Amino acid sequence: MHNMDKFELQKLRDLPIEGVAERLGLRVSHHKSLCPFHDDHHASLSFKVSKNTYRCFVCGASGGPIDLAMALLPSRGGREGSPFLDACRWLADEHNVILTEYQPSPAKPAEPFDANRYERFFERPWLNDEARRFLFSERRLDPRVVSWCRLTSWKDKRGVPWLQIPYYDREGKLVGVQNRNLVRGASPRFRFPQGAECTIYNLPVLNLLKPGEPLYITEGCSDCWAMLSAGHKAIAIPSATLLKQKDVELLRTFSSPKQGRQGGVFTFHMYPDRDEPGERLFLQLKQLLPNLEHHQLPPNCKDFSDYYLTTLPAAQHPPNAPPCKP
Ligand SMILES: [Zn+2]
Repeated sequence: MHNMDKFELQKLRDLPIEGVAERLGLRVSHHKSLCPFHDDHHASLSFKVSKNTYRCFVCGASGGPIDLAMALLPSRGGREGSPFLDACRWLADEHNVILTEYQPSPAKPAEPFDANRYERFFERPWLNDEARRFLFSERRLDPRVVSWCRLTSWKDKRGVPWLQIPYYDREGKLVGVQNRNLVRGASPRFRFPQGAECTIYNLPVLNLLKPGEPLYITEGCSDCWAMLSAGHKAIAIPSATLLKQKDVELLRTFSSPKQGRQGGVFTFHMYPDRDEPGERLFLQLKQLLPNLEHHQLPPNCKDFSDYYLTTLPAAQHPPNAPPCKP
């Protein structure tokens, strides 16, 4: 069994409490939320960002990120292990890395995203060895997908390799850039330039959807690339808790008849991650998109990227084909 050392535990205790709360399904606003520990109607739970704790002034519930996860994660009956370790594992899970990037509403208004500064990087995408290893050897993605997504790479002043992921709106305008650290286990794992709007990923694919063709919704761009490599049309959202109102509105318009091609509405499909947040995300999206269809991943696959790898022949060499036109 994996033992958490003191250093790792401290990292979990330092995960932003409000981000953890949101990931667990609480709606945090102005450092308060409804208390999940009593029948609350007045947002009695408050968060102290400086101490990274929560406290309910009605029922007295209090603690830090690990306590909150222990209290709110569903118990996994029949499994060995303790609720404490379950909570630590959940918090340490790579899917929750987004938590370390969680930022409450910025104190000062952000500078708008400067697309002109970044556009040129994606005109001639270039993949360094680390990027090729990650995309083709590790994730085994289709080079045509990598090319369609205009993924490129660069190294910062300290020689750290980054994958650079452009976000476009439906009209193909660059609206954001996400940088992914290509050093395994490195922190921070993601970086976003000032003002970047990295919410719904791969919107231009909507223009290619044929009538009645299924549109898959994934959590995060890695799963989106796997889905595209498997031959499906797909968009990605970061996670329901990070969806901005603007994106909720956009998703809503998808299920209105006039948006679909030739009078039909899009049909939505999803393979939720095999965990509680994954299922919760599905349910939240289902409220916005009533015809969203649930697909079940096999028991040994935690997300679609895992599943995609199991569908590939075992001995395939990383493709070295030059990028093709999408
Ligand atoms: Zn309470």
